[in-house]
Amino acid sequence: MDFTPEHKSIHDNMKKFIEAEINPHVDEWEKAGIFPAHELFKKMGKMGFLGINKPVEYGGLGLDYSYHMVMTEALGYINCGGVPMAIGLQTDMATPALARFGSDELRKEFLSPSISGDYVACLGVSEVGAGSDVAGIKTTAKKDGDDYVINGGKMWTTSGTQADWMCLLANTGEGPVHQNKSLICVPMKTKGVQIARKLDKMGMHSSDTAQIYLDDVRVPQRYLIGQEGHGFMYQMVQFQEERLWAAASSLISLERLIEQTIEYTRQRKTFGQPILDNQVVHFRLAELQTEVELLRALTYRAADLLVKGEDVTRLASMAKLKSGRLARVVTDACLQYYGGMGFMNETPVSRAYRDTRLGSIGGGADEIMLGIICKYMGILPGKKK
Ligand SMILES: Cc1cc2nc3c(=O)[nH]c(=O)nc-3n(C[C@H](O)[C@H](O)[C@H](O)COP(=O)(O)OP(=O)(O)OC[C@H]3O[C@@H](n4cnc5c(N)ncnc54)[C@H](O)[C@@H]3O)c2cc1C
Repeated sequence: MDFTPEHKSIHDNMKKFIEAEINPHVDEWEKAGIFPAHELFKKMGKMGFLGINKPVEYGGLGLDYSYHMVMTEALGYINCGGVPMAIGLQTDMATPALARFGSDELRKEFLSPSISGDYVACLGVSEVGAGSDVAGIKTTAKKDGDDYVINGGKMWTTSGTQADWMCLLANTGEGPVHQNKSLICVPMKTKGVQIARKLDKMGMHSSDTAQIYLDDVRVPQRYLIGQEGHGFMYQMVQFQEERLWAAASSLISLERLIEQTIEYTRQRKTFGQPILDNQVVHFRLAELQTEVELLRALTYRAADLLVKGEDVTRLASMAKLKSGRLARVVTDACLQYYGGMGFMNETPVSRAYRDTRLGSIGGGADEIMLGIICKYMGILPGKKK
């Protein structure tokens, strides 16, 4: 991938923004279990960060994915996982399908304010009974006059307690499970949308996560994204960006952890010498740094092909799989070399250890990524290549 001075400038601006507007507040937001998404996104929207690769007509910068990817990589400078995850939700999880398949009217109503930061978006795919098995969701949207009437519920909805609208996946028909679903924009203030509870999590504390009930929620049929019955396919396309985001956003945060661990183990001595001087320690850190570089190469290759218009499902799934697994290995090794201090909440590595655990579960668990890769390799029983 060839980077231009513009790529560098986007990356550096994001880093500066993080140092000035995000990191000074992270500890407070982690304690509060939420961050002020409207306030932060408005500032990010003004800087153009929320629409780098979104169409100019709706307030985006209209640049290709590589420019967005370097911004995503810079999110690794944030001192927690929750805030970057909510930013990624806004740019790469809840809005790509709307940007690509939504009508002009719908994009003006929901995409433009999401790019400017006036609206906070959330994604309603997972349900209490269906996370990995997306086709198994039970929420329905039935036509009644000019409206859809939605019934069901969504689980683990990131930014769910403060979002303005949800990109909702619902069953709009009775047919085969991959052809009976649609994506619909649902304003969260609509009667019948109820935030059942804010979920208490192991990590990602600064990001609010909600369980949501949908009880006779009435929205106009014009809030349908693209064509009825195409929702499953649109969501699979949307997942490509979510999965690449997961890989790109992990790179710098893992490198920073390795750097911090080098610094700590250089200072701390056991048996008369720095912990770092033990070959088992410096070799291990060098090996982990090598793994991060390999992940970066894979992520850049996938991004490069995406920019060229190719289907990158296979590579994005590999990058997502590897980033989730590598984050678990890096945080575990770094925490180990911090010893007792690694187990203390005041040490950044302990937060990283908790936050990154989600990487192998959210947005498609490791096993789901392996299933997709097997499908592309032609070795998934009963499925053709
Ligand atoms: C903090 C957080 C934020 C989230 N944000 C959102 C959001 O904003 N919007 C949204 O829609 N969802 C969100 N999710 C949901 C997330 O995407 C799901 O948790 C994830 O897809 C896994 O689904 P599940 O939890 O139902 O696990 P299950 O489907 O119950 O699977 C449990 C485990 O079983 C294993 N497994 C599953 N299927 C297979 C298989 N075929 N073969 C082998 N092993 C298998 C995997 O290890 C998996 O982790 C979020 C989750 C969390 C925890």
